[in-house]
Amino acid sequence: MKLIFLGPPGAGKGTQAQRIEEAYDIRQLSTGDMLRAAVAAETEIGKQAKDIMARGDLVPDEVVVGIISDRIEQADCKNGFILDGFPRNVAQAEALDAMLVNKNIALDAVIELAVDPDVLIGRILKRAEESADGPRADDTEEALQHRLRVYEEQTAPVAEFYASKGILKTLDGMQEMDEVTQQINAVLKEI
Ligand code: AMP
Repeated sequence: MKLIFLGPPGAGKGTQAQRIEEAYDIRQLSTGDMLRAAVAAETEIGKQAKDIMARGDLVPDEVVVGIISDRIEQADCKNGFILDGFPRNVAQAEALDAMLVNKNIALDAVIELAVDPDVLIGRILKRAEESADGPRADDTEEALQHRLRVYEEQTAPVAEFYASKGILKTLDGMQEMDEVTQQINAVLKEI
């Protein structure tokens, strides 16, 4: 099963993707996690991404497109994958389309978690407080506001892109986590 999870920061994509990863034995591919690992390891990509991420801007498309293109070819993605945090703009969605055609892979569904923007900042600040690793560099209120603006301007149009292809499923991300998981499972049963 090949899936995309879409939704603003704090919508619960990561948590839901982890649950679905386990239940269906498919890999969660979070570009944010991969980039944070690159920053921590001080690789070339990490050095390039560090300041951009701390501000809440998007790293260049070719960087993330390259990462995903390599990653989905690895053996652990044979059974499928969940793209979490990618694509983040329409150019990335178009690059992904071309890449999948090339690799002869079809997407099964794009699942969007719709959340009231007013609750997101509170949710993320709470997550940052509770995180065992401490807050992320981009969990400051200023960077958060910026991440939400970037989402509205650049990522929200990605939902339209997939709606026009008929594979977008929008779910209510304001429900309890277990209810959201149930709704995702119901969508996945149908495909
Ligand atoms: P996330 O963990 O998904 O919230 O991502 C954290 C940060 O990593 C984002 O604010 C961006 O700076 C960067 N990032 C993650 N995924 C992408 C992507 N697909 N395109 C560009 N930048 C990304």
